[in-house]
Amino acid sequence: MTSTQHTTTRGTVLVVNSGSSSIKYQLVDPVGGEAIASGLVERIGEDVGTIKHTYAGSTTQRDEPIADHGAGLRLVLGLFDEIGPELASAHIVAVGHRVVHGGSDFAGPALVDDDVVRRIDALSPLAPLHNPPNLTGIQVARELLPDVPHVVVFDTAFFHTLPDAAATYAIDQGVATAYGVRRYGFHGTSHQFVSGEVARFLGRRVEDLNQIVLHLGNGASASAVRGGVAVETSMGLTPLEGLVMGTRSGDLDPAVLIHLQRNAGMSVDEIDDLLNRRSGLKGLAGENDFREIHRLVEEGDASARRALDVYIHRLRKYVGAYLAVLGRVDVITFTAGVGENDDIVRALALAGLEPLGIAVDAERNAGRKKQPVVISPDWTPTKVLVLPTNEELAIARQAVATIEAAGLEGTSEETDPAPAAAGHA
Ligand code: ADP
Repeated sequence: MTSTQHTTTRGTVLVVNSGSSSIKYQLVDPVGGEAIASGLVERIGEDVGTIKHTYAGSTTQRDEPIADHGAGLRLVLGLFDEIGPELASAHIVAVGHRVVHGGSDFAGPALVDDDVVRRIDALSPLAPLHNPPNLTGIQVARELLPDVPHVVVFDTAFFHTLPDAAATYAIDQGVATAYGVRRYGFHGTSHQFVSGEVARFLGRRVEDLNQIVLHLGNGASASAVRGGVAVETSMGLTPLEGLVMGTRSGDLDPAVLIHLQRNAGMSVDEIDDLLNRRSGLKGLAGENDFREIHRLVEEGDASARRALDVYIHRLRKYVGAYLAVLGRVDVITFTAGVGENDDIVRALALAGLEPLGIAVDAERNAGRKKQPVVISPDWTPTKVLVLPTNEELAIARQAVATIEAAGLEGTSEETDPAPAAAGHA
């Protein structure tokens, strides 16, 4: 089952993304793709928390203490009943949970049971900031919505197919195996969704396309997808590897860590904070939002200019590497906050590649894109696209596919077999 598979199962999916002090949620119609309601609980466990619930075009905000995730989710369910849509009539067929790390274990979505919970917990050392809060969200949701199947969708699953040569770090394999040190990849739900939707949009079979997907948000990653199967991606053991991001460094010589520990007396936690939260665009220019970076560049700010240059240089290096990995590239797609909105980044990322059959048409590229659109000129063999990602819809579709496969959905009808992406998830 895949995120691009279309189902006629009637009903909605509540998609939950639980962080350390937040819960993001969306009630999704997996068939039409519509977000019926959405919201965000923030500052859980602090003196005053906030909950924002959006339904039918208006947002309701409440500020009050929210002791823990259980209290947060109870408030969310209360707001559904108070403001709408009433959950009793929303016909929730599944709750879909985003989980960051599925390790080597999970090659696709899974129906939650006690064993799955235990296995996600066991993967916590690989994602200590993400898996434990994801799990808390799953546990409170199971308690509060016990009659609905819960499905976990992993950020790593799409990259389960990475060839061994791409997944392996060249270190002592005894150490690597003992500590699970290999490349897992992240943002997989988005890369899978986008590569599948690209094929639909172009009216092509995903099996026939070689694609590069550039997911450029605050976190950023690139992937090479051959015939719907991921063969390379820029993130590794954690989401720190690869591209320059909003606040993360991306690639650097691993000896930088050793150097800082030995010579700057920095602790492991300080280096973690430096590389994950004080690096990337933020570390280079003091701002992690590209709108600010461009504004500063226009004002002649040298640090912002450098940040843009470093960001683009790294991105182009990955595009070049993936051209070599794939041999032939049919489509390059930009997605996520920067990819969908920033025409300057898109133009610079692929500038001067005409000899390789890659170009961006200035007029087609101009502006923010809310719909899939081709931005390359007609003559290029490689098409360049912008295609908005939708991780919540992808999770909702995978959740429905999972409960259908388990025979849990009574209202399920025929499924549309059209474009199937990777057959593993
Ligand atoms: P996340 O990784 O948090 O999901 P998003 O995919 O929402 O991030 O991307 C957020 C980033 O998108 C912002 O930090 C900003 O750099 C960029 N962005 C959003 N809107 C615009 C815009 N209109 N122009 C340029 N960049 C934008």
